[in-house]
Amino acid sequence: MAEENSIEHVKCLIIGSGPAGYTAAIYAARANLKPVLYTGMQMGGQLTTTTEVENFPGYPEGVTGPVMMEDMRKQAERFGTDIRFGVADEVDFTGSLHKVRIDGEKWIEADAVIIATGATAKYLGIPAEEKFKGVGVSACATCDGFFYRGKDVAVVGGGDTACEEATYLAGICNKVYLIVRKPYLRASKAMQEKVNKTPNIEVLFEHNTKDLFGTDMGLEGARLIYKMGTPEEKEHDIKIDGFFLAIGHTPNTEVFKKYIHTDGQGYILTEGRSSRTNVPGVFAAGDVMDPDYRQGITSAGAGCRAAIDAERYLTERC
Ligand code: NDP
Repeated sequence: MAEENSIEHVKCLIIGSGPAGYTAAIYAARANLKPVLYTGMQMGGQLTTTTEVENFPGYPEGVTGPVMMEDMRKQAERFGTDIRFGVADEVDFTGSLHKVRIDGEKWIEADAVIIATGATAKYLGIPAEEKFKGVGVSACATCDGFFYRGKDVAVVGGGDTACEEATYLAGICNKVYLIVRKPYLRASKAMQEKVNKTPNIEVLFEHNTKDLFGTDMGLEGARLIYKMGTPEEKEHDIKIDGFFLAIGHTPNTEVFKKYIHTDGQGYILTEGRSSRTNVPGVFAAGDVMDPDYRQGITSAGAGCRAAIDAERYLTERC
């Protein structure tokens, strides 16, 4: 628990440095909330792991993820955001001042807190995923699909995301393999129909991915196992340039769950169209509360809302 003498008081604390966190910081700083932003482990968030971003308005020639996040950081700093490297690892939201512990030692108490800790895409856990990340392996078809136009790619997963991503990629790529570990899709009937009606999607049921292969220049294929663990088990390779993971995301909410209501998947629940959580003065923005859209631009918009909600909350309290 927080020791009173080591607590720093801030008006508005923002946790997370993706588009939601930085946008919240820009708005909060301009509203004179003197925000302090803790970046988390991955400064700049998920977008720092993508290469080219071509769908964020304002960059007509495209921009790399790391450069765009650096631009956002500078913009937040320009208006006076105090940006610090550190990870929030415990909270105490029982009082009217919200306490957040950073890096296991320092406690901050804030009048308003904006949670923008994002979500982490799930990966299969095979070493080759790391090797080809950004040069063949991606967890976002909308972000990276364009770079595989005219090529053969694979999507892993049998849920709505996998089906949606496969259908999206089918419009850009030559051929899309959908690698599904079960003998059926978990996706909604409507989504399954879409997949079935798309001629250049081939669904590989009861397939698991054993490995990926290629050169330093990029991915060349995947080694699959059919009916893994059965007497009929068989290995075969597919030639692909892109390998898209769509096996779910994990929202980064573990630290907050004791106080903040989340849905069955762990996403923070917010009130109506606002960013308000069940705890007055605590707001949520971006992928941490959005299982559906998960885009840089939608996160930035959510960050804006959270800062406006925080500003209104603080004004009403005075
Ligand atoms: P889901 O959890 O629904 O599906 C994950 C899929 O990945 C499942 O098919 C699962 O297989 C598979 N999977 C998980 N781990 C592995 C693994 N290690 N190896 C191989 N396959 C694996 O996640 P989604 O992201 O698809 O959807 C999340 C939520 O968002 C859902 O509620 C969905 O309905 C919703 N959504 C809605 C959309 C829409 O309505 N337009 C679009 C996208 C998402 P298995 O089935 O065997 O467990």
